[in-house]
Amino acid sequence: MTSAAITPPTTVDRPMTDPFGRTIDYLRVSITDRCDFRCVYCMAEDMTFLPRADLLTLEELDRLCSAFIAKGVRKLRLTGGEPLVRRNMMSLVRSLSRHLKTGALDELTLTTNGSQLARFAAELADCGVRRVNVSLDTLDPDEFRRITRWGDLERVLAGIDAARTAGLAVKINSVVLKGSNEDEIPSLMRWAHGLGMGLTLIEVMPLGEIGEGRIDQYVPLSLIRARLSANYTLTDLPDSTGGPARYVRVEETGGRLGFITPLTHNFCESCNRVRITCTGTIHTCLGHEDASDLRRPLRASPDDALLSAAIDQAIGSKPKGHDFIIDRRHNRPSVSRHMSVTGG
Ligand code: SAM
Repeated sequence: MTSAAITPPTTVDRPMTDPFGRTIDYLRVSITDRCDFRCVYCMAEDMTFLPRADLLTLEELDRLCSAFIAKGVRKLRLTGGEPLVRRNMMSLVRSLSRHLKTGALDELTLTTNGSQLARFAAELADCGVRRVNVSLDTLDPDEFRRITRWGDLERVLAGIDAARTAGLAVKINSVVLKGSNEDEIPSLMRWAHGLGMGLTLIEVMPLGEIGEGRIDQYVPLSLIRARLSANYTLTDLPDSTGGPARYVRVEETGGRLGFITPLTHNFCESCNRVRITCTGTIHTCLGHEDASDLRRPLRASPDDALLSAAIDQAIGSKPKGHDFIIDRRHNRPSVSRHMSVTGG
C-alpha cells in the first residue's frame, strides 16, 4: 500500500468539539469485524460477518483516518474484530505512521487478543507503535479456551512476550465474568504487575446478541474492588487519559490497576473519542444506536470536503451519554451492535 496524498498540518486551528464542549481528539478504528476468537461475552459462536465487499479498503481507511487527523485527532487506536487478522494490515500501520513522524499524531496504537503478536510485534515497534493493549481474561488454559471458544493461551502468552521483547509497553485488559474469572483477579493482577504491565478490569457491556443473557455474566466492579481492598492497599490516581478508566496504584505490587465501569459509574462527561467501523460508519457513542455513514462522502469525491462536512455533522450529534443497563428486566442488548463491529 502506498501512502495517501493527504499530509495533515501538525497543528490544527480548531479541534473538533461536540455540542457538550468535549474536544474529540481520539479515534478508534475497527479495521475488520472478523476475529480468530469467539469470546462468549463478545460474539455468538455462529457469527455472520460482513461481506468483504462492504469493507473499506486499507487505502480508504488510511484516507479516513488522515481526514480525522487533519481535523485534530491526536491518538489513533486500531481495533476490531481482531486487527492483526486483516490481510496486509501492517501496510496500513506503516502508512499511518507517517503522521507520527510529522508530529500530527501523538500516538498510534492497537488493541489485540495477542494471538498474532509474536508475528507482528517487532514490525509494530518499527512503525513507531509504543504500546499495545492485550485482552486476556484468564491465565487458566481450560478457562481461556472456554471463554474464547477458539483461543490458545500459550500463543497469546508468547505474543505478549514478543511484544515486551520488542520494547512495546503492554497493558492487559480483562473483562470480569461472573462465576468464571472473578476469583482469579488477584492472581491475574500479581502476574501482570510482576511483569511491569498494567491491568484494567472491564464490566461486561450489553452489546449485541450473544446467545445468552448478560445477567449471567455481569459482575459490578465495585464488588471486585471491595474484595481486592481486603488484601491490597488501593491508592486512587488522578485521571490522565480522558478515557472511561479510573486508576489506582496497588501499593503491595507497585502496579497500576484500572476499572472501566460503564454500568456502575460512567464518565461520559469527559469522553474524548469516536469510533469508526470497517465499513466507514461513525459511532460517536459506544453505548448508543447513533450512526452516520462516512463511506458515501469518502467515495463521492477524491477531495475531502464532503467527508469533512460529514464528520462535522456526526460530531455535532454526539450524544451526552450512553444507554447501558443490565438488570433482570433489561437482560437484552442495550445496543444491537457487537463490540467486534464497533471496535472495543
Ligand atoms: N480482538 C481485539 C481484542 O481482543 O482486544 C480487539 C477487539 S475486542 C472487541 C476489544 C475489547 O472489547 C476486548 O478487551 C474485549 O474483551 C472487549 N469486549 C468485547 N465485548 C465486550 C462486552 N460485551 N463487554 C465488555 N467488553 C467487551
